[in-house]
Amino acid sequence: MTFCLSSIRSFSKLWKSKLPCLGLGPGHFYLSLFLTDCGIRNQQRWFFLKMSPQNTKATNVLAAKVRFVKKGDEDRIMQNSSHPHLFAAGEAKKRSQMNAHSKDHTLLLKDNIQLPTKPLNSEEWDKFKEDYTGKGNFENWISSQMCCSNSSVDVAKSLLSWVAAKNNGIVDYNLLVRYLYLCVFHKQTSEVIDVYEIMKARYRSLEPGAYTLLIRGLIQSDRWREAFQLLEDFKKVMTPSVNNYDDCIQGALLHRDVNIAWNLYQELLSLKLTPRLETLKALFDFGKDIKDDHYSNKLLDILLYLRNNHLYPGESLALSIKTWFESIPGKQWKGQFTTIQTSGQCSACGNTIESIQLSPEEYDFLKEKIMRDVIDGGDQYRKTTPQELKRFVKFIKSCPPFDVVIDGLNVAKMFHKVRESQMLLDVVSLLAKQNLQLLVLGRKHMLKQCAQWRRHEMEKVQEQAHCFFADNISEDDPFLLYATLNSGNHCKFITNDLMRDHKACLLDAKTQHLFFKWQQGHQLAIRRVSPRSHITFQHSPCYDTIVQTTGDSWHIPYDEDLVERYSYEVPTKWLCLQRKV
Ligand SMILES: [Zn+2]
Repeated sequence: MTFCLSSIRSFSKLWKSKLPCLGLGPGHFYLSLFLTDCGIRNQQRWFFLKMSPQNTKATNVLAAKVRFVKKGDEDRIMQNSSHPHLFAAGEAKKRSQMNAHSKDHTLLLKDNIQLPTKPLNSEEWDKFKEDYTGKGNFENWISSQMCCSNSSVDVAKSLLSWVAAKNNGIVDYNLLVRYLYLCVFHKQTSEVIDVYEIMKARYRSLEPGAYTLLIRGLIQSDRWREAFQLLEDFKKVMTPSVNNYDDCIQGALLHRDVNIAWNLYQELLSLKLTPRLETLKALFDFGKDIKDDHYSNKLLDILLYLRNNHLYPGESLALSIKTWFESIPGKQWKGQFTTIQTSGQCSACGNTIESIQLSPEEYDFLKEKIMRDVIDGGDQYRKTTPQELKRFVKFIKSCPPFDVVIDGLNVAKMFHKVRESQMLLDVVSLLAKQNLQLLVLGRKHMLKQCAQWRRHEMEKVQEQAHCFFADNISEDDPFLLYATLNSGNHCKFITNDLMRDHKACLLDAKTQHLFFKWQQGHQLAIRRVSPRSHITFQHSPCYDTIVQTTGDSWHIPYDEDLVERYSYEVPTKWLCLQRKV
């Protein structure tokens, strides 16, 4: 090693020149990009992802949705007989995996050039640069590569020295931030503090990437309180991310400053950010050693927060919650990991889980909201014409309340091997035998005789069910929702469409949750193993998958680490907590 600096302090003299004060510039985007491009997923969390874990799943949903509707998938979906129910965690993932078309787009960045594993001297760096044949700036490229492969701090430092020496003492801001990244990654606290001093002297304010790194680096050091000051500075330019709060709260707990931790937690909630599960876990873990009612009540508030926001802990948070409950002196809590039976009873304690049925107040609230937002919303012309809407409402008023509303087109197209009118007739006949009041929603084209639509079969459908045929351009879903909700809480509907678009139309979270709860309890999905076999209906759960308590018990659904759950699915595993009275 011929060229190794003992400390980055030797660089201080390098930052004398005319770099402008950096506010929020393109640097932020650049920085995010350079790490995302690396394809190393866990590094992304360092940087300013506005997406919560739920949102990432939501993005996947789009991909899954596209695959889901491809012709022929439905058969495969129905062949899987191990489905607990349509909304169970992992089901969508299974559905998408069943599709042979799904491809992994793994982009592996492979270079023929080997990254240096030990510090290089100037000549060696010069030589390295000569060998570089790629496009773009060598220094940018090599420093990005070093971040991606988490090169040692010494190697990165030799790069910076070389750049500074041949560049009149100027080191590019991005290069410095990448060096900071490596120092934080390797937990080289003293180096972090040195870079911090340089940045403090050089720039009035930083961009989010640097703030995030400095906060994370400093919180581990004995100058941890300065991380909170950085958070304050950060707030002057923009809202910190949940990761910044996570770092600060974990840091506060590490240094046993409970008040700062709870204040930051409150602040995070008041900004309407969703805390990371790791943050909650840290608070529960710390709670084991704190025998204080005030602290305990705050932890119980976290559980109610999860309930109110329909959030679910992961496996490790569930374990921390269990351990915390069992550590409360004198209360004798006992926790068990379990499942809920189809009947809605907890397999561990036998108690009944809250019903999926909406209360009359909730039902009326949802009904009114859907009528207004989904059906008669601002863009009603795009979905249907006012004339048709009027005709439909008049038709509904002339009918008795329905027991089942059927999305005719969706049901008919469920198996491409079966004639559409035949499939619809099979479903209608099966339900009609049970003396149910049926409504079939269809399109006018279904009444025209053709290969897929036989007139005599459609006549039989009309004998057994009320039918409404909308214009061929109309959307069926709003009619389906209207007819079902108008019939009352007992009425179910059949479609294999998950109606995510409508959920998205319902602007506020409360309505969305009610809609999801109502949908889980009212949507019947058809299953048929093969075109010739019997039709069965996938059961809808009778209980609500939500964090709940009776005072002496808690039931907490949680996500398993290895099961990927989409945003419209619910977990299947539960933590049951009972107090021995
Ligand atoms: Zn239980």
